[in-house]
Amino acid sequence: MQRQELENYIGQLLAVARFKDYAPNGLQVEGKDQINKIVTGVTASQALIDAAISQSADAILVHHGYFWKGEDQTIVRTKKQRIAKLLAADINLLAYHLPLDAHETLGNNAQLAQKLGLIPTARFGEQELVWRGELPVPMSLDTFSQHVAIQLKRPPLTIGNPGKAIRTIAWCTGGAQSYFREASNLDIDCYLTGEASEFVTHLAQESGVAFIAAGHHATERYGIEALGKHLAQEFNLEHTHLDLDNPV
Ligand SMILES: [Zn+2]
Repeated sequence: MQRQELENYIGQLLAVARFKDYAPNGLQVEGKDQINKIVTGVTASQALIDAAISQSADAILVHHGYFWKGEDQTIVRTKKQRIAKLLAADINLLAYHLPLDAHETLGNNAQLAQKLGLIPTARFGEQELVWRGELPVPMSLDTFSQHVAIQLKRPPLTIGNPGKAIRTIAWCTGGAQSYFREASNLDIDCYLTGEASEFVTHLAQESGVAFIAAGHHATERYGIEALGKHLAQEFNLEHTHLDLDNPV
């Protein structure tokens, strides 16, 4: 298919225009016009680019691309190395940040809910990025934490009373620990995100709402893969998802 057609389709599917974001969503580095093979991954790291080149991909789709608000605007050092490789190989780089977090079926929050068996019931917060839902059967914080470890293949950082019963949960994938403040005012048992900051320990202890940091990468590896699978089916594209391990 044509690159432009792919870009238009995803733009509509993820309602890209609806979001205020910290980086451009859509085509970030232009490559060839014709796309047959796509590679998906969480972050457009050098390792992902090298792997995509060795697999003769025509486009790389990621959740974390480039050109973030506030970052150095020059193309030097590691950024130069990455972009030089992309341009030399004529590979397209497309990135979808908040629109991919938010999509109701393919998005990171939706995919994480599926993985953990959470039933979504509501959304709240900035651009409705935090989801709220329930476990079909309540379990102790300790048991839920072990469940998260098994499902995401990584032990989470869990703060709270291990025996506390967990039924209602709010979650937002990635680096969304700052939303714990707002979430802790709601009637929930636990807040789950990817990363932690120092303040979350005190807030969890003082509010009684448990906190789980299950990994930024680990909570965001499912959305971009689901998008890739969807595109492969829809347009008969070849698709490979590369899950390059990241302990953070
Ligand atoms: Zn992220």
